[in-house]
Amino acid sequence: MKIGFIGSGIMGRPMSLNLIKAGHELYTWGRRFDAVEPLLVAGAVGKGTPAEVAAEAEVTITMVGTTADVEQVVLGERGLMHGARPGSVIVDMSTIAPSAARRIAGELASRGIHMLDAPVSGGQTGAAQGTLSIMAGGDAEVFARVKPLLEALGRSIVHVGGHGAGQVVKACNQIVVSLTMEGVAEAILLARNNGVDPAKMREALMGGYANSRILEVHGQRMLEGNYKAGFKVKLHHKDMGIVMDNARENRTTLPGTELVARQFAALMEAGETELDSSAIMLALERLSGS
Ligand code: NAP
Repeated sequence: MKIGFIGSGIMGRPMSLNLIKAGHELYTWGRRFDAVEPLLVAGAVGKGTPAEVAAEAEVTITMVGTTADVEQVVLGERGLMHGARPGSVIVDMSTIAPSAARRIAGELASRGIHMLDAPVSGGQTGAAQGTLSIMAGGDAEVFARVKPLLEALGRSIVHVGGHGAGQVVKACNQIVVSLTMEGVAEAILLARNNGVDPAKMREALMGGYANSRILEVHGQRMLEGNYKAGFKVKLHHKDMGIVMDNARENRTTLPGTELVARQFAALMEAGETELDSSAIMLALERLSGS
């Protein structure tokens, strides 16, 4: 299949490579040459604008940063919308506001272009191994068309509803992930402050109900104090904003998420924007003065 791909960061680059490995013809564009170069070396074709990428492709995937980034890449002056053929599909796999996903889908529909919001969970490792969890919103028929392609990227691929539903489910994912991260960080801190080896604590918990991927992966990073991203603090902070804005729009009270959102806001204020989100441990240590 001829596929367009925009976004060659921590997630987008390995995802693009998996699509090339699966035998697809990949067209790409990036605003920095050094970010796209490894893809060109692997066989991708570089184009001058997002619109030129979309003109070549049956399906174009975006994996950029924020809502504003997706709007720029899709709807902007030289955006995908201006090159995409009617009947083609744009799949946004970034994490953005559900309301924005619906708005963008509406704009594209008026030009006969299909859209799916298909955010992911599974991080850098899932992207590299092609084992992401993908939660898709949009028309069921369009989803069925694109699903074989998504199978090169993920293991669990679920159509969860209409436009925006994928982003709502991703917001739910981020509630569970962030509250679990906070729990793991608090457990490590309490063990340490009791003179109990936090590595032993983690090992013991991994055998019971408290086990999770977060305890395994982020718990290990917290023990090592290794905060190389991964999933950047600034992106997690962005996601907390999406969740809290959506909760306000839907008159939903999320006290736990609000509390954890404050930890990410504190990391942002401290300038620790590029660290891995497991650096929530640092914010907690500061609160405890340890
Ligand atoms: P990243 O490493 O910062 O990469 C973002 C990529 O998008 C970069 O190639 C960047 O280009 C490009 N980009 C951003 N804004 C752009 C714009 N306006 N125009 C053109 N290119 C733009 O981010 P990431 O970690 O791959 O995350 C990408 C998305 O996936 C985010 O929405 C994030 O929330 C979501 N996500 C990430 C993870 C994770 O573990 N990292 C997990 C699940 C979901 P430059 O290099 O030029 O800046």
